[in-house]
Amino acid sequence: MLDIERLREDFPILHQRVNGHRLVYLDSAATTQKPRGVIDALVNYYETSNANIHRGIHTLAQRATEQYEGTRAKVARFIGASNPEDVVFTRNTTESINLVAHSWGDRFIGEGDEIVISQMEHHSNIVPWQLLAARAGAAVRFASLTPDGHLDVDSLRALIGPRTKLVSLMHMSNVLGTINPVAEFAEMAHRAGALFLLDAAQSVPHLPFDVRATGADFVAFSAHKMLGPTGVGVLWAREGLLEEMDPFMGGGDMIATVREEASTWAEVPHKFEAGTPNIADVIALGAAIEYLEALGMDEVRRHEVALTAYAMDTLERIPGLAIHGPRDPEERGGVVSFEVPGVHPHDMATIADGHGVAIRAGHHCAQLLMRQLRVPATSRASFSVYNGEDDIAPLVEAIEHARKVFA
Ligand code: PMP
Repeated sequence: MLDIERLREDFPILHQRVNGHRLVYLDSAATTQKPRGVIDALVNYYETSNANIHRGIHTLAQRATEQYEGTRAKVARFIGASNPEDVVFTRNTTESINLVAHSWGDRFIGEGDEIVISQMEHHSNIVPWQLLAARAGAAVRFASLTPDGHLDVDSLRALIGPRTKLVSLMHMSNVLGTINPVAEFAEMAHRAGALFLLDAAQSVPHLPFDVRATGADFVAFSAHKMLGPTGVGVLWAREGLLEEMDPFMGGGDMIATVREEASTWAEVPHKFEAGTPNIADVIALGAAIEYLEALGMDEVRRHEVALTAYAMDTLERIPGLAIHGPRDPEERGGVVSFEVPGVHPHDMATIADGHGVAIRAGHHCAQLLMRQLRVPATSRASFSVYNGEDDIAPLVEAIEHARKVFA
């Protein structure tokens, strides 16, 4: 069991009062808070090792390079990947997906081809494919959802066919919490000869993740949602895929030779990391991974399932309150989107903030999903390792307060 009281000691930001109340941070699906070890890693890098990587001969450059490349190995270990060279550092999940849309998509997607996604997706797994489809004369197809917030497998199956070149789906919904059976989806894509991209922005931070078990060809996620810093994303690609792809951006560090006639590219993954990367934040991601590994991802998942079950049971006792997504906490992650009758989500979030409770209100970058739910927005509470059952009572108080105000 996670010792939440002790663990909160590691997160300096949590030790403050907001609007006269203990800060209750329930917005980890947007970004997580950072443990002291991650903050220290950033400071330590700048105080002891700051230098540009790869090109330098001097001690600091070598030290910085070792720490940066060391994180690549930690990322590979964390997701069960055998080759660190299959891990590319980007800015975030969004950039990882855009990289695939350009470097793989512009080469392999043509007129009449189809890309299959779903109505559940985050905008970062929709818009890059719409842009690619417009460039290539291809089409984007959308699998629908079941009323209880699962991806409709029959609709997905019906969409995947001989024209499908890529199936790109999320692992865990940032709104519904739904955890998709992605290995099954990967198999459906592969049977049709298509590749499978997994948006793992909400899953890698919250459950034991084994890239081989997912069956994915590409996996994208963000450091800032897994206790790491902003400004770092990961793209993992199945061995050999990166070699087949064109560079995403050109510049320093991604070349082997530059001549007037033409240039040649560095080995992967460096071919995809043009210019000076976000060295400090990549190194601090290494500290975040070590923190999560020390907790144990099985424990993290167990904790979040129990907390989600408790939160759902407690919230459902509020008259009229409706929770979106699957009812079974085992089928979802620590994300609870809810409606309070007569209270707009933005008002709900404002009143919650008055109680020191940080929740998110809006479309959560999922406008297609909002249309399916027939709501303009939802209120969303989302959890991480530092949340406990004592965070739910302040949320309930805020909801009761909102109900009184808008009665
Ligand atoms: N996909 C999902 C499922 C997400 O929840 C998010 C972040 N809300 C993203 C993609 C985009 O992540 P980022 O903003 O870090 O690129």
